[in-house]
Amino acid sequence: MLIVMHHTATDEQIRAITEAVEAMGLTAEPIPGSQRTAIGVLGNQGYVDDATIRDMPGVREVIHVSKPYKLVSRDFHPKPSLVEAGGVTFGDGQPPVVIAGPCSIESEEQMVAAARLVKASGARMLRGGAFKPRTGPHSFQGLGAEGLKYLRSAGDEVGLPVITEVMRIEQLDTVCKHADVLQIGARNMQNFDLLKEAGKTMHPVLLKRGMSATIEEFLSAAEYLLAEGNPRIILCERGIRTFERATRNTLDLSVVPLIREMSHLPIIVDPSHATGRRNLVTPMAKAALVVGAHGIMVEVHPDPDRALCDGAQSLTGNDFDELMTDLRSIQELFGGTL
Ligand code: PEP
Ligand code: MN
Repeated sequence: MLIVMHHTATDEQIRAITEAVEAMGLTAEPIPGSQRTAIGVLGNQGYVDDATIRDMPGVREVIHVSKPYKLVSRDFHPKPSLVEAGGVTFGDGQPPVVIAGPCSIESEEQMVAAARLVKASGARMLRGGAFKPRTGPHSFQGLGAEGLKYLRSAGDEVGLPVITEVMRIEQLDTVCKHADVLQIGARNMQNFDLLKEAGKTMHPVLLKRGMSATIEEFLSAAEYLLAEGNPRIILCERGIRTFERATRNTLDLSVVPLIREMSHLPIIVDPSHATGRRNLVTPMAKAALVVGAHGIMVEVHPDPDRALCDGAQSLTGNDFDELMTDLRSIQELFGGTL
């Protein structure tokens, strides 16, 4: 950490900072310049909380060198992590994983039909929401625990691992029992209590980026899971809120190569919630692979026009099959298989 002082800072103020740094058990090294003095902080093992320093008299700016997300960062873990979840591996050198299925589990029949469709086209994990975070209380809220059984049995029938969202700590036990991967959604990305408890389960977690989360906030949320000892974390970019209303969100594809540089964790893309429109899902799914995503998650429904949730962004079985064909061609360009 580097503490930059105002050019008007007095010797007394500089001394007070030095003492405060030393009181934290660290070493302060004043670096006098022609305009102002900076104070280098040495001896820290990772990120230093600057709360006591930044408001002290004479301080102009505090520059952090270490990141607040030490466990997630490549600084301390340079090699990319491979994350195994439900028999599928996400990460560098692995074929991208396609997760597909409906937004919500609506009935046993709908879930089985969706599972057959996505399996036939080559998906490697089945999704479906039982606990749905809907914007309004009058919208379909999901089938809850009953839905989890339909998801599990549909996955078992076609031989696919399953992923579903957990919204509250009290749901963790049941969701862990039925699902191979826990999803923590955009709205709960900063539900720190849920993150801590999900971290303790040691179950693989797909962590979605909050709709207004910066990359630092996103990686810090993942740090909560790792800090509990759970290394099986997959990140998911799902679009962020911008001024643009023509699409549901704005897909921030640049985070894929950026996060691959910053973190060792795998990252996938959800083009369905990012765009909100079926005809945009396919091109953005393809783009995600091209920029290096370790997988994609897409909503597929046997009858999107009758879907109880997110029908407009759900692919039909045919759309999904065509997408998979295109993704295979893209993957071949990179010299691999899907
Ligand atoms: C979902 O994947 O079902 C979902 C609700 O997504 P998000 O949390 O990204 O909005
Ligand atoms: Mn959805």
